[in-house]
Amino acid sequence: MKSTQLAQISLTKDHTGATTNPIYLSTAYQHEKLGCSTGFDYTRTKNPTRSNFEEAFAKLEGGKYSFATSSGMASIQLVCNLFKPNDEILVSFDLYGGTFRLFEFYEKQYNIKFKYIDFSNIDEVNASINEHTRAFFIEPISNPLMFSVDLNPLYEIAQARNILTIIDNTFLTPYLSTPLKDGADIVLHSATKYISGHNDVLAGIVTVSDDYLGEVLGQFHNMIGATLSPFDSYLLLRGLKTLHLRLDRSTENAQKLAQSLQSVESIDEVLYSGQTGMLSIRLNNAYSVDSFLQNIKLCIFAESLGGTETFITFPYTQTHVDMADEEKDKRGIDEYLLRLSIGIEDYEDIYEDILQALKNSRKEGVSI
Ligand SMILES: *Cc1c(COP(=O)(O)O)cnc(C)c1O
Repeated sequence: MKSTQLAQISLTKDHTGATTNPIYLSTAYQHEKLGCSTGFDYTRTKNPTRSNFEEAFAKLEGGKYSFATSSGMASIQLVCNLFKPNDEILVSFDLYGGTFRLFEFYEKQYNIKFKYIDFSNIDEVNASINEHTRAFFIEPISNPLMFSVDLNPLYEIAQARNILTIIDNTFLTPYLSTPLKDGADIVLHSATKYISGHNDVLAGIVTVSDDYLGEVLGQFHNMIGATLSPFDSYLLLRGLKTLHLRLDRSTENAQKLAQSLQSVESIDEVLYSGQTGMLSIRLNNAYSVDSFLQNIKLCIFAESLGGTETFITFPYTQTHVDMADEEKDKRGIDEYLLRLSIGIEDYEDIYEDILQALKNSRKEGVSI
């Protein structure tokens, strides 16, 4: 069912018989007379190509309203507009560095408080809630340490205490999980990653089921204006058509790699949740990360994830560069940790590339 839905996403039947979505570049829409509109007035408010993507995506999520934004961070910022000074948000301890940086700024600038907790520790969750707690912000598979968390008990707690649950589902996508159906209030993605899938679109998407949330987020979306362009909306629809194939293959490759890298002696730790194509490794300190990154030939040293090619990221100076050293220390984000977004290449080629790069990355005069 999901594969069919993705493969044929947003097929429109129009007078031309076109089998893919048109890209409406028009920013303004003509009116017949006062009080008349086709439903489209001005592209910041609503654009036909963006609406095609948003409506198709809301359906995939089992939600009612989606809002496509110009980046994943713009999606997170859109949602942050729901909060006021003195509100408190409980946040996954291990999370994307850019989100941490935005929350730090909001705390300083607007006095919205963000408390970083371990959502798999229910006692800690309960103890962290007070009368100011408005939301949980959760990465179900954390970045970069790949901890997974059981969301169902958290929905129960949140619903009982009138707290919003916000899920950053970038690593999973609606192909692997649909939190709105299980009890989440807001699901967001950096669509730059698996949803686009080809490293050529910067985008975000926020989805809700609740009418009130749909209305206010819709107002903020139009008011703030970080909306997604028609061309990028089209590219996301195009990417979604193969999401299932790409994720199945990345996951299969990542599962095999997580297994085989366990027994490689230059790797001290393999961090993998069992789902999706994201895994992290910690090199033994007798090896040089710098040499390793210079020695890889097939894999690509770049800062993103979710594309067809295997990317290797160094969180310490890339995704988490703006996190203070002591915060990185607390989380185990050190100078030996590498995050891998496993692509859809042949597994053997990725594995062999990693092995050959490691073999040539031994520091001189250091023993294991
Ligand atoms: C990349 C990423 C973001 C930010 O998205 P952009 O599209 O880069 O703005 C947010 N959350 C997670 C988990 C990400 O990986």
